[in-house]
Amino acid sequence: MSDERDRFLTESMGECWHEYDLNAPVLTCKGGGFVCRKCREFLVSNNDFSTEEDFERLLRWAHTRADLRSLLPRLSNDLPGRKPLSHRERMRLVQALYEFLSR
Ligand SMILES: [Zn+2]
Repeated sequence: MSDERDRFLTESMGECWHEYDLNAPVLTCKGGGFVCRKCREFLVSNNDFSTEEDFERLLRWAHTRADLRSLLPRLSNDLPGRKPLSHRERMRLVQALYEFLSR
C-alpha cells in the first residue's frame, strides 16, 4: 500500500519507479544492487519516503511546485534551518502530498 504511494510520488517527481529482478543482483565497486529494466540505471532500491533521505528529496521537489507550495507551510516549516521532522510528521506530509496529487 505504501509501495503504491511511493510509486505514485516517485513518478510524479518525474523519476523512474524501477523494475528489477531481485534474483539477479549485480555487484559493483559501490556495493550490491540491481539494474532497472526500464531505465537501465544501477540502483539499490526504489524510493521509500518513510526514510529521511528520500523524504528530503520529495520535500525539495515539492517546494519547486507552485501548486504544492501552498500545501507545505501548513505541514512543515520552511526548509532552511528547520529541525528534522519526526517519522510521524514525515509520513503525514507524504500522505498529504499523495492525496493532493492523486485526487
Ligand atoms: Zn528505472
